[in-house]
Amino acid sequence: MIVVMKPASTAQQISDVIARVKSDGYDAHLSQGEQHTIIGVVGESPTPLREENYGTMEGVEKVMRISAPYKLASRHFHPHDTLVPLNGSHMGSKKVLIIAGPCSVESREQIIDIACQMKEAGATALRGGAFKPRTSPYSFQGHGEKALQWMAEARERTGLPIVTEVMDTAQVPMVCQYADVLQIGARNMQNYSLLHAVGESQYPVLLKRGMSATIQELLMAAEYVLSHGNRRVMLCERGIRTFETATRNTTDINAVPVLKSLTHLPVILDPSHSTGHWAYVTAIARAGIAAGADGLIVEVHPHPEEAMSDGGQSLKPERFAQLVRQVSAVAEAVGRQLAPQPMHPTAVNGTTAVHD
Ligand code: PEP
Ligand code: MN
Repeated sequence: MIVVMKPASTAQQISDVIARVKSDGYDAHLSQGEQHTIIGVVGESPTPLREENYGTMEGVEKVMRISAPYKLASRHFHPHDTLVPLNGSHMGSKKVLIIAGPCSVESREQIIDIACQMKEAGATALRGGAFKPRTSPYSFQGHGEKALQWMAEARERTGLPIVTEVMDTAQVPMVCQYADVLQIGARNMQNYSLLHAVGESQYPVLLKRGMSATIQELLMAAEYVLSHGNRRVMLCERGIRTFETATRNTTDINAVPVLKSLTHLPVILDPSHSTGHWAYVTAIARAGIAAGADGLIVEVHPHPEEAMSDGGQSLKPERFAQLVRQVSAVAEAVGRQLAPQPMHPTAVNGTTAVHD
């Protein structure tokens, strides 16, 4: 951290700042020029540095942070990519993972049928919502535990591991009985008690970026999960709110290379929620892989016109198969390839993910 003093600051004010730095347990480096006086704060201390407190001290013009406020998520402290094992493959390696399935699990037949079609088309994991965070309380809220049981059956048939959302701390132990990856939805990215609970679970977590969250806020949210010793965190760019209304959200494609440079955690792109329209999904999926994403999470429904949620952005299975073919070509062009599909039979939940 750097403290910049006002040009008219007094010697007493400067020494008060230095004394505060020392009492917080850090070293102060004073640099005094003709016009400006700067105090560099360096070293390690158990006392957190509170920029805002220094900013209120007499004679201080501004305070600038020079290191990121997140440590466990930072590539600076952990230069190598974290690999999250998922059913024989690794999220974050040269292999690109494709998670696909319906927005909501609607029935046993629906999820088993989609899972078989996803497997056939080349998906590496199955997504499906059992607990749905809907904007309206009158919209379909999900079939709950029953849906998780149907997904577990779909996993038994296909070997595809399950990615599903958990919305509440109380649901975590139950969802862990079925899921291979716990999804934290955009609306819950800053639900800190939920982040603590999934951190403690030690289950792999797919953390979606809040629709109005900055990249730094996403990384701070990941830090909550990591701080429980749960290193199996994947980040998901799912589109942000902007002034643009032509699409449901705006895909922040910049977030992919920015995250890859700031953090060692795998980065997944959701072209479905980030566009909100099936016709744009494949183009944005290709862009995401070209930009360096480690995987995709895509919504698919055999009858989008009858879907209970997000039908407008769901691909039909044959279009999804085309997406897989195109994404595979893009992956090869950037020195990667699609992850191999799980062997069958497979995945006993919870044993599929081992620490990196
Ligand atoms: C979903 O994956 O269906 C979902 C609700 O996503 P998000 O939290 O990104 O809106
Ligand atoms: Mn959805």
